[in-house]
Amino acid sequence: MKYNYLIVGAGFTGAVIAREIAEKCNQPVLVIDRRNHISGNAFDHNDNSGILIHEYGPHIFHTNAPQVWNFLSKFTEWIPYEHRVLGQVDKKLIPIPFNFTSIETLFSTKEATIIKKHLLEEHGNNVKVPILNLMESKNRFVKELADYIYKNVFYNYTKKMWDLEPQELDPQVLSRVPIQIGYDDRYFNDKHQAMPKEGYTKMFQQILNHPNIEVKLSTQFKDVSNPNEFKKIIYTGPIDEFFDYRHGELPYRSIQFEFITHDTEYKQKVGTMNFPGFEFKHTRMTEFKHLTFQKNPKTTLCREYPEAYNSKKNLPYYPIPTQENKVLLQKYRAEAEKIKERIAFVGRLADYQYFNMDQAVARGLQFFQKEIL
Ligand code: FAD
Ligand code: UDP
Repeated sequence: MKYNYLIVGAGFTGAVIAREIAEKCNQPVLVIDRRNHISGNAFDHNDNSGILIHEYGPHIFHTNAPQVWNFLSKFTEWIPYEHRVLGQVDKKLIPIPFNFTSIETLFSTKEATIIKKHLLEEHGNNVKVPILNLMESKNRFVKELADYIYKNVFYNYTKKMWDLEPQELDPQVLSRVPIQIGYDDRYFNDKHQAMPKEGYTKMFQQILNHPNIEVKLSTQFKDVSNPNEFKKIIYTGPIDEFFDYRHGELPYRSIQFEFITHDTEYKQKVGTMNFPGFEFKHTRMTEFKHLTFQKNPKTTLCREYPEAYNSKKNLPYYPIPTQENKVLLQKYRAEAEKIKERIAFVGRLADYQYFNMDQAVARGLQFFQKEIL
């Protein structure tokens, strides 16, 4: 078959665009991925104990975008799931995002009552405040609390995760986990919070299951012998790699995932435990059965050890949102602009943006509407 479109990458971005082209334009699409599976970083599969695990770290779906929810719901049923996280701070387990229960766990009743009163006066109930904003408070009690949270919940975790000072990162990074003025202990507060009933990979199989779509795995873009024969190429891999790093490497963070299976039904109380302290090398530990509600006499957990990205050793998981990297990104965007008639750069790695899954879907849908249809 002759394909009009080549899509490089079978993650969310690539799969969504492929499906839209196949269905709405009735055009043949070839999707390639250098890994030996579809689903990109959302790939899941059963481990040796039959427990559904996420190969590239825990993926929890949440969105406020109706178009994203409606699109994916054509390909999967859902299990409602609200993610909850406990963090180990001062040898105690506290809810993260840091909330009123966290205050009551860490401080005496008298202190907690005063702090909560001041927080409510300053912000109102059931409000989420980024830590960096809370630290600017003129109220002595609020400021002291904010400094405590910054030191004990954010600083060391962020150093471990990014190997940077928090101020070097775009403030949006720390704002992802705001302080909760109130008792809400959910990690996300989006309208839709759910996991695909049979897992991400089954959902991807459905998205890509269309007569106009062919998928070739274990295939690098560099292995494609006839790139000029495609009407358009949509590239979802790292943008700097595409241009052979001609302006220098865009840095990424990588992670080592350690999977541990226990001969017991459950090991922790909630989906994820965060470990902000330097006494632990890992940042968090997730027990998959909390996310999937699977029944199994055993349980598998995943520890995450952040590390520098090295193209020979590991994979580029996180673009690093700093000012310096934005400047370098602009150089690659300028290169991309010159060839935009033939090649489009879309997705977490090609846009070099810290997209959640729903943002990757939204980006794919929007790209199709604006650039293809
Ligand atoms: P990817 O999933 O990275 O897919 C890109 C694909 O392109 C890959 O399969 C890659 O192999 C392929 N590729 C790249 N270059 C080439 C090439 N040259 N030739 C051939 N193939 C190529 N989001 C959430 O919403 N909730 C979460 O809980 C969550 N947890 C996460 C945890 C971790 C540890 C990580 C790393 C990410 C998490 N995310 C989460 C983000 C989520 O993984 C991304 O939003 C999503 O995977 C982005 O999809 P994508 O298609 O843009 O990129
Ligand atoms: N963060 C932190 N302590 C925590 C949780 C998060 O310092 O207990 C910071 C850290 O910098 C992290 C960022 O907030 O990288 C975003 O956290 P999130 O859980 O959203 O990260 P992701 O799931 O994308 O890895």
